[in-house]
This record gives sequence, structure tokens and C-alpha cells, in this order.
Amino acid sequence: MSNTYSNLVITLTGPSGTGKNTVSNMVMERDEKVKYFITATTREPRSYEKEGVDYYFLTKEEFEKRLDEDAFLEWSRHYGNYYGALKEELHKKMQAGFDPHTDITYSGAKAIRDYMPENTITILLMPPSLEALDERMAKRKKISGEQDDQQRVRLQKVREDMIHWKDPEYIFTNDDMKGSKLSDYDYVVVNRDVEEAVQNILDILRVERQKREF
Ligand code: ADP
Repeated sequence: MSNTYSNLVITLTGPSGTGKNTVSNMVMERDEKVKYFITATTREPRSYEKEGVDYYFLTKEEFEKRLDEDAFLEWSRHYGNYYGALKEELHKKMQAGFDPHTDITYSGAKAIRDYMPENTITILLMPPSLEALDERMAKRKKISGEQDDQQRVRLQKVREDMIHWKDPEYIFTNDDMKGSKLSDYDYVVVNRDVEEAVQNILDILRVERQKREF
């Protein structure tokens, strides 16, 4: 299918706790063209979660049917539940004139870029230091459902990545950025100060839209 969209598709990747959620919400508040790309899951909705707002909640059977139909850009399984990004959600948002946006792992960002190469802008969000990341992780305390061992392994990988991340040959190992290196992303934004990081992303979007006007 030929791609006639001029919209941007924006992916934000970075280690857990780096501020993706915070920055992403502020970008969407200030740029009303940018809209959350809602993903699908088979896990139970939490009390505050709404169908079609936080996720598309599917039964296991529905999800597997959609898998057979090749309806997903990318999918994975965690703790017995399926998670996936539906192609139709991307089309729906773009047809409505929005720039779909999601925070996603590198493999997810890559799948989106492979599907919409001319539209996709991949952004890597990094914390300014290991200490800042530790503080944010402690502040957030959101590491739910994980065993201590898994958590330790995950944090160790983030630490290694933080030490080497500017090395052009270094391949990231933590789950969110696994298999990628710095040059695989279109832009790198350091989340030192939230206001500054949000402004940098808004500037990136402005420039990328201008490029597509010609
Ligand atoms: P992620 O979505 O990447 O896992 P969050 O957006 O949940 O990260 O942020 C983790 C924590 O760090 C939150 O408590 C958030 O308020 C805080 N935080 C985010 N950006 C900054 C920043 N630039 N400086 C200080 N704290 C921040």
C-alpha cells in the first residue's frame, strides 16, 4: 500500500524511569496534533483504566485472532499477557489528522519505522546521569510485578548502558533499548530539566513538519 500521509509518527524510547511518561504527556498537552497511539493488551484493566483511552482491552481469543490476521505492527508477551500495537490504530489517528505518538521499546520503534519509514521520527530520551536515574526510579517506585532478581538484572543493564551510551559502537542491553545504539535514533534528548526536554522535542517536531512541506 502506498503511503500518502504527511503526518509524523513519533516514538520515544529510553530506560525505565528516565521520564518518558512525564515528557510525553507534556508534549501532547502543548502540541495538540500529537496524540497517544493506544496499544492493545489482554491483561485485566486496572480500576482507573478506560477502554480505548489507556488500552484496547482484548480477550486472549480476540488477540490471537488478530495475530492470525497480521493486524499487529509489533507484539509481545509478559507474565502470560499479550501486548501489541495495532496497525489500524496508526491509520485511524493519521486519517483523523493527528501525529501518533507512543513510548515504546526500540524493537517496537523499529517495527513502526519499518512500516512508516517516511513518517517516523525516533527519539531516544536519556537521563543526565546514573544518579538522576536512581533518584527517579526511587521516586516512582513503580516496578510492579517483578521479582527482586529480575529487577536487579534490569537495573544492572541500565547501569552498564549509562556508562557506555555515548560510545558509537556500544549496543544497548536493557530491555527498552536492547539491540540498538545511539546512531539508530533520529534524535537524542537528555532529560536534565523537564521543560528543556519538552521544548527540544517540540522544536524537533516543528523542524520535521517544515521539512515535509516542500
Ligand atoms: P518513564 O516513563 O521513562 O519510566 P516517568 O515519566 O514515570 O519515567 O518518570 C519517572 C520519575 O522521574 C517521575 O517521578 C517523574 O516525575 C520524574 N522525572 C521525570 N523527568 C524528570 C526530570 N527532568 N527531573 C527530575 N525528575 C524527573
